Amino acid sequence: MTINNPLLEVWKTPFGTPPFEIIKISHFYPAAEEAIINTIREINLITDNPEEPDFENTIAALDRTGEILGRISSVLFNLNSVETSKELQAVARDVSPLLTRFSNDVTLNEKLFSRIRTVYEKREISALTDEQKILTERKYRSFILGGAGLKEESKNRFREISEELAELSLKFEENVLEETNSYELHITDKSDLAGLPESLIETASMEAVARKKTGWVFTLHFPSYVPFMLLSERRELREKMFRAYASRSFRGNEYDNTVNVLRIANLRLEIAEITGFGNFAEMTLGDRMADSPVKVIGFLEQLYDAAKPAAIRDFDNLRKFAVENGHVGPIERWDWAFYSEKLKKKLHNIDDEILKPYFSLDKVEKAIFDLAGSLYGIKFLQNRSVSVYHSEVRTFEVYDADNSFLALLYTDYHPRPGKNGGAWMTSFREQRKTGVTDVRPLISIVANFTRASENRPSLLSFTELTTFLHEFGHSLHGMFSKCNYESLSGTNVARDFVELPSQFMENYAFEKEWLDTWASHYITGEKIREEIIFKIKEASTFNEGYACNRQLGFGFLDMAWHTIENPVDTNIIVFERDALEKTELFPAVEGTNMSASFSHIFAGGYAAGYYGYKWAEVLDADAFSYFTETGIFNRHTAELFRKNILEKGGSEQPQDLYVRFRGKEPSIDALLKRSGLNVSSPFF
Ligand SMILES: [Zn+2]
Repeated sequence: MTINNPLLEVWKTPFGTPPFEIIKISHFYPAAEEAIINTIREINLITDNPEEPDFENTIAALDRTGEILGRISSVLFNLNSVETSKELQAVARDVSPLLTRFSNDVTLNEKLFSRIRTVYEKREISALTDEQKILTERKYRSFILGGAGLKEESKNRFREISEELAELSLKFEENVLEETNSYELHITDKSDLAGLPESLIETASMEAVARKKTGWVFTLHFPSYVPFMLLSERRELREKMFRAYASRSFRGNEYDNTVNVLRIANLRLEIAEITGFGNFAEMTLGDRMADSPVKVIGFLEQLYDAAKPAAIRDFDNLRKFAVENGHVGPIERWDWAFYSEKLKKKLHNIDDEILKPYFSLDKVEKAIFDLAGSLYGIKFLQNRSVSVYHSEVRTFEVYDADNSFLALLYTDYHPRPGKNGGAWMTSFREQRKTGVTDVRPLISIVANFTRASENRPSLLSFTELTTFLHEFGHSLHGMFSKCNYESLSGTNVARDFVELPSQFMENYAFEKEWLDTWASHYITGEKIREEIIFKIKEASTFNEGYACNRQLGFGFLDMAWHTIENPVDTNIIVFERDALEKTELFPAVEGTNMSASFSHIFAGGYAAGYYGYKWAEVLDADAFSYFTETGIFNRHTAELFRKNILEKGGSEQPQDLYVRFRGKEPSIDALLKRSGLNVSSPFF
């Protein structure tokens, strides 16, 4: 079975890269099966070891198991995201349950857990390095959260709840999807299209045809809903659309999520209690930078105090503008986007059509590589012989200032059928040490940037430029990694710390000093004008007070659901109103509810984690302010950032790493300044 399966062989390729040209879809399943058997054998060697459990023979040994299995999964799931097919999808679907079953078996392996617990309990007296201590705590925690060490009765209940929660999350999401899909706004009177752009009208007409209707159909999907709410001059239709959107899964029909919200919140509380925590947030936050509900809520409160006055400022400005433009009565939720868009146009007339000609992809790529060069002294050398999974993928050897090899970087920029939407950084191998050998990583940046056309090169929008910087920031985190253990290396850090390196890089897109070095018109060669750069920066603070306050509201709501310490059976409207009360700016709208369609926290991975968006912004703004204070290309500051953040992965506590880089704890001041949240900052 193992004969001629390249996934199970040693890759004798340069840099040990996956030999894509000889890997066939049919190789994955048998390779995964075999690799699982081998990994079980490796784990048995650990559990059968007659020696006393210690860090090296248990925790480190466990971290080293499953190398081939990891390699197979990374090739399979990366390919499934970038170059998939029906056959590959089928294989991924078949392999996934094998992996889940295997990982459950590991977590519930009593002998293994008991060794881990022994090392964990002695961790303070065992002369471990910080990194070893963190790895021990991390492994122990993942076993505990997976239900290890429970008494048989609790274990059964734990399993029941886990299964029910998985089903409920799925059901929650399906209900929201169904409610999003089932609504349509059918327009037959042309005058009801007032304010809408031609392209949107055309799509709406095609949608109507597809539904065998006359006229135009608008839906609750973002590409239809968002521009409709921004631009439709028909206030009563905006209201209709808003009410439909905000009452999804809250209409008392079979797709209603009211009961699911309560059930999920209560089961999460129960599972937290079984595993020894006071509430679900406490259980989830344990290994974060904000490692307790008190910290998270304190953070939200602190930002709220600063943002609320700015939100009121934005709200009043908008109301004033609306009244000047003939609005009568209170500003309702369905008025906000509409007047915002108009006010934004009036104040900051800047859009992508003006910017794109300055951001051709080849220039952007070179500028970003050069930026890393001037900050860290690293070099990118294209390699045309490394095996790739698609002819558009390019690879670069990345060398440090002293010419030592750092990493191999793959870039894959454009959309294709068979590639997921969005942009992300991933890896085919993460950095780690085996014995004395430093195994360098294979990192990849994937995006869906606008393609070149016959007459013009690929020109990026401003958002695409910041996306590139963002993913490049993640890739630096992966490429600079200098850790001992794979599960702590690179981007394997706390969830609320992982976006620091990426969001940090985005700041450069707003800096004249950087744009000046490279941004020029792809035809005329004219340098980007100062007034354009000024406008980019100015527009970035538009309505930030309002937006921040709103995000904080979601954060408070998330924390409210996940800090309950007794089962809730109350009316979810009342529960939600209490949680959102202080961030609320609009009159209440009967029949609507946010929780019933809040998929991020009830179906996605953001339960007790929504605060993370703002947390990461505070960090990146604070970190970047150190650069603006010392010079945005300052080699010394960059060195501090690299040595303390980018090289360290999760090998030390993020708070300690941050303070060592910055010389002090992060404060919200830089974010307030960047977003124009100091109320004194002028608006008009
Ligand atoms: Zn990111």
